[in-house]
Amino acid sequence: MNKQQTLQHYFGHQNFREQQEEVIDSILNHQDVLMILPTGGGKSLCYQLPSLLMDGVTVVVSPLLALMHDQVVALKENGISAEMLSSIQTIEESKLIEQALYNNQIKLLYVAPERLMNNYFLTFLMDLNINFFVIDEAHCVSEWGHEFREHYRMLSQLKISFPNTTITAFTATATTIVKEDILSNLQLKNPKVVTGSLFRENLTITAQHRQSDGRRQLTHFLKEHEGEMGIVYAFSRKQTEATATYLQKQGYKAQAFHAGLPTDVKKKVYHDFVSDEINIVVATIAFGMGIDKSNIRFVVHMNLPKTLENYYQEIGRSGRDGLDATTLLLFSASDVVQQKSFIDELPDSPYKENAYEKINTIARFSDSESCRHQQIATYFNDTIEACGNRCDNCLYPDKNSIDITQDAQKLLSAIYRTKQSFGIHYVIDVLRGSKEQRILTNTHDQLTVYGIGEHHSKAQWLTIADKLLELGAIGIGEYRVYYLTDRGVGILKGAELVSIREERMVVKKAKSKKKVTYFDDYEVEIFDKFRALRKEIATINKVPPYVVFSDKTLKELSNVMPSNKNEMLDVHGIGEVKFERYGEAFLVLIEEINNV
Ligand SMILES: [Zn+2]
Repeated sequence: MNKQQTLQHYFGHQNFREQQEEVIDSILNHQDVLMILPTGGGKSLCYQLPSLLMDGVTVVVSPLLALMHDQVVALKENGISAEMLSSIQTIEESKLIEQALYNNQIKLLYVAPERLMNNYFLTFLMDLNINFFVIDEAHCVSEWGHEFREHYRMLSQLKISFPNTTITAFTATATTIVKEDILSNLQLKNPKVVTGSLFRENLTITAQHRQSDGRRQLTHFLKEHEGEMGIVYAFSRKQTEATATYLQKQGYKAQAFHAGLPTDVKKKVYHDFVSDEINIVVATIAFGMGIDKSNIRFVVHMNLPKTLENYYQEIGRSGRDGLDATTLLLFSASDVVQQKSFIDELPDSPYKENAYEKINTIARFSDSESCRHQQIATYFNDTIEACGNRCDNCLYPDKNSIDITQDAQKLLSAIYRTKQSFGIHYVIDVLRGSKEQRILTNTHDQLTVYGIGEHHSKAQWLTIADKLLELGAIGIGEYRVYYLTDRGVGILKGAELVSIREERMVVKKAKSKKKVTYFDDYEVEIFDKFRALRKEIATINKVPPYVVFSDKTLKELSNVMPSNKNEMLDVHGIGEVKFERYGEAFLVLIEEINNV
């Protein structure tokens, strides 16, 4: 069989995609290869097909068991003899595979890097007829990448042990520095380097500022994708579980997935998702690397990912069948603070500096106003035209900006006048003329900034604070105390104008003014906290919990999140008497939740 016949017979395709043939020809000519091609671009065919045309066995190094397993199953489906060697096989099973390798009965062998670099195994391999090596997910070689694996570093020995065997490396993404790292670490000789276009034209990329925990935005998005399959990425294990529970209550077939779940649960979720029995997986990044499901129609990020590389790989898991897919990134300035606080813990090193820069990059991307596809391409040193209709920034370019310089100055001034010693909620309360005891005790009602911000809701002021954080005009110090940076001082002195997209202010305004009349999307986590407090109060007072506050009241509280007595009295079921008895305890809890 020739190339074309093999393509049709084993893979069922009529034609090669761009660049596939180039790589296949290089491998057939025994040339080392580095191929950088986006997820879904048809990378694996580039080494599977030449393997079939050559004598001997191809050894594929892959970082994840799930990934290897899926590939082996898919190859066997296509009538290709493939096996994997990993920690999950018994010694007997491994022996059988080794025997089959001796007998030349296996075309593709998948192994984990730690297995490959073990001395016994290397010696074993030297007795085999290996046509070429494949290093999949090759970016794991580089410390500068986002998924560095210690065992991948050892692959630099491969060229020494097998100086005459072709080595090919494949990855979905690599910046210039990662690319250089792959080439030098793997010691590729005169390699053919092929870079595919990063533009995934079937993906529509959108991003929004997250409001509260983002669940309303998520449900709104899901309503437009009824019945479709998708992944929702969340930051923590706890958050995946809470969000999955929330979606189940909304009637979605959703399950949580994270590394902390028992293996059988993980297997079941993975299986149910791949076989379309559930629609949505709410996962930490542990889920999805190498997932071979082509009909994922959307990817939602509930938080800012760590890097643009992570983000691009994660959204790349949707639309692998080439059909339309949509991505939504929900982000807030607090994500950046949180991510950076993790890096703060690391010892000083160039890596640490690099990690900070990566967070700044993804933060700028999320809040940017130019073509998102173009920005991604630029980041990976590719040049493309603006997509025109495949990202929110191109689709809706006329984002009306409004000038908020005066408001920004008011907020900066309030932070300054309260001696840069308070959290943002306190500062906003001062601006809005709150009569909270703490403010009166501190005599902050005497300040010139007291009460000059009543024209905006608390939510709107929080948005303005977010914008100032994004600009780096204010910072958050220990105990979440806000302070002015040099840029903030400049803005306060009128050196710079501040503007914000009108919609950001309007949405918040609508939300805070609207009388809440529905309860189906109350925040489960918060509601649970309120319920726990209600139980505590009920026990102390020896009354049933519902006598303290009804469920309806708790649900409305979790929607409104009142910050003072007046706002609280607006909530269903809370009158003066109830407020006197229980109000303060709930206000304290709400403040705690808001400050998390
Ligand atoms: Zn665009």
